[in-house]
Amino acid sequence: MAEKVSLPKELLEGFLRLLFPAGCEVCGEELPARQKIGLCPACWRQIELIRHPFCERCGKPLPDDITELCLDCRVEPFPVITRGAAVYHGPVVGVVHLFKYSFWPSLADQLTGLIAERLHALYPGWQPDALIPVPLHKKRLRWRGFNQSLLLAERLAEFWKTPLIEPLARVRNTTPQVRLEPEARLANITGAFVVVDREAIRGKRLCLLDDVSTTGSTLGECARVLLEAGAREVRALVLALPNSPKAELL
Ligand SMILES: [Zn+2]
Ligand SMILES: [Zn+2]
Repeated sequence: MAEKVSLPKELLEGFLRLLFPAGCEVCGEELPARQKIGLCPACWRQIELIRHPFCERCGKPLPDDITELCLDCRVEPFPVITRGAAVYHGPVVGVVHLFKYSFWPSLADQLTGLIAERLHALYPGWQPDALIPVPLHKKRLRWRGFNQSLLLAERLAEFWKTPLIEPLARVRNTTPQVRLEPEARLANITGAFVVVDREAIRGKRLCLLDDVSTTGSTLGECARVLLEAGAREVRALVLALPNSPKAELL
């Protein structure tokens, strides 16, 4: 995988395109000539962006603006204040999967565009001192060849004019959270991260970045160790959040 990453982006994508003819990841329609991967324009339009009202704590969409917190957060607050750009359903599921498991830099550009578009509505007036991608364990990084959160963070740092720092290391190679029941996720992730650069975070306002968060346990654990190591404030930003499972009951 290492040599894949070192190839120039255009060469790599041109080569992959020979192997995988360009078609929309969701509907199979032919993509516009200059687009190498991802969703066709019609499928992009179907992506549901998260707009007001959303939960003040977890950022998941709310059915109305009568309350500030979703039912989940009223019972047990999401571990860290989080905002997401899009709802994790429909075309987003396919495109996130593609992004996570194959190296397509142009897809990272498109997905960062989704976050950038929503950024000022999601965190109005809030500017962190630094952006931190959620790290992968080095074994998984070797297997996958790249960290999808770092790809997003690199592009977003430029847009948000915020330094990107990597003060966290993942010291335990955990079972992927998606394979676990929500109750088992916290135990799986506890102790998985350590702060390896305390100086970089001391007294700072930090924003964690990841692709998707369901229960918030990964983000919460990162936030916990960062705050313990002296960070002033930690919030999170993700590409996609699922609808709250209890949203329909409200
Ligand atoms: Zn399509
Ligand atoms: Zn909530």
